[in-house]
Amino acid sequence: MNLHEYQGRTLFRAEGIPMPDGDVASTPSEAESIARRLGGTVVIKAQVHAGGRGKAGGVKLARTPGEAADAAEKILGMTIKGLVVQRVLIVPAAEIASEAYVGLIMDRASQRPVFMVSPAGGIDIEEVAAKTPGKIRRVAVDPRYGLLPHQAMGLAFFLYREVSLARAAARIMEQLYQVFTANGCSLAEINPLVTTPDGKVIALDAKVAIDDNELDRRPDLALLRDESAEAPSEVQARRANLTFIKLEGNVGCVVNGAGLAMATMDLVKYYGGEPANFLDIGGSSNPDKVVNALRIITSDPNVKAILFNIFGGITRTDDVANGIKTALSQFPVKVPIVVRLTGTNEVEAVEILRGIGMTALSDMDEAVQKVVALARKAA
Ligand code: GDP
Ligand code: MN
Repeated sequence: MNLHEYQGRTLFRAEGIPMPDGDVASTPSEAESIARRLGGTVVIKAQVHAGGRGKAGGVKLARTPGEAADAAEKILGMTIKGLVVQRVLIVPAAEIASEAYVGLIMDRASQRPVFMVSPAGGIDIEEVAAKTPGKIRRVAVDPRYGLLPHQAMGLAFFLYREVSLARAAARIMEQLYQVFTANGCSLAEINPLVTTPDGKVIALDAKVAIDDNELDRRPDLALLRDESAEAPSEVQARRANLTFIKLEGNVGCVVNGAGLAMATMDLVKYYGGEPANFLDIGGSSNPDKVVNALRIITSDPNVKAILFNIFGGITRTDDVANGIKTALSQFPVKVPIVVRLTGTNEVEAVEILRGIGMTALSDMDEAVQKVVALARKAA
């Protein structure tokens, strides 16, 4: 779950990371009164789940409350990387002497939180990694001991030669590690971490992603979810208790079990197709889940054909067949459906499908080849 900058800032400031005070607005007049309260020059920043807001015109300086209202007027409603800006953050402008990057991610390869820091901050860190990888330093943290003082200082001296700046940066990294572990983050990032002409080190941006698995333990964090900033299909799927990830292909997939869902996607690709989604309808059998799944998949205009791949164990294949039948009676499905099912109650399932003019395959390769061919023909 991604947080907005204004939400991430709250977590950062709670751990003591130095950041300018600020507030969030959803109208130009709110922005104006916040700017008046803060006084002086302010920065108006688009709150969307995307980086590169600066380059896209979503970060503007305003010298007066009137300018703040104008800037907010321009930014609110703007589209950045497909996302409509609904709120802006207003913070006092900082004077910047240098910009660095500090990020902390959960790294699959080392199975640990890994710090990545670079003195070349502000811009895309991906670009730095590609063009000048020597400007990035990585340190893996052993979660049993946390970030050790010498590790924090080592990272900080990679950013700054001056001892006072390095000490301040090391402290911020320790605080960032606290934010990360205390909130179950998969990512916590400060870009830019800046130095000011009077020798302070402050964070000017906050990017935080919370591991979804943490949210049951942390209902307070779950409340921060902004559904208007997420893919509508993923929001619908979460409400229907389906594990769904939207992808860019044209073969819709309805599968029971995460492992079989991955294998199905692999096979779709193997036969030259592109999956439109990952979807696990789960182990239990509930026709409603099938109805919801079909509703979500068919609302994606990219989908040209749909594959059901059901291995009946705990899942009863007749329940799935009934789900298909119910869905087809409730809303139109304009794309072809290929069903492969085998296992518990398959005789009954085949009978139900026959009743609505559908046939079921039992071979997975055959079904995948067929759905890929149908999707290709319709594309
Ligand atoms: P992002 O582009 O979406 O990551 O948005 P950022 O919050 O990182 O802002 C982009 C850039 O705007 C920063 O790298 C800074 O150069 C600039 N910026 C942000 N806040 C301030 C500020 O308070 N003062 C000044 N002078 N520049 C700022
Ligand atoms: Mn940034």
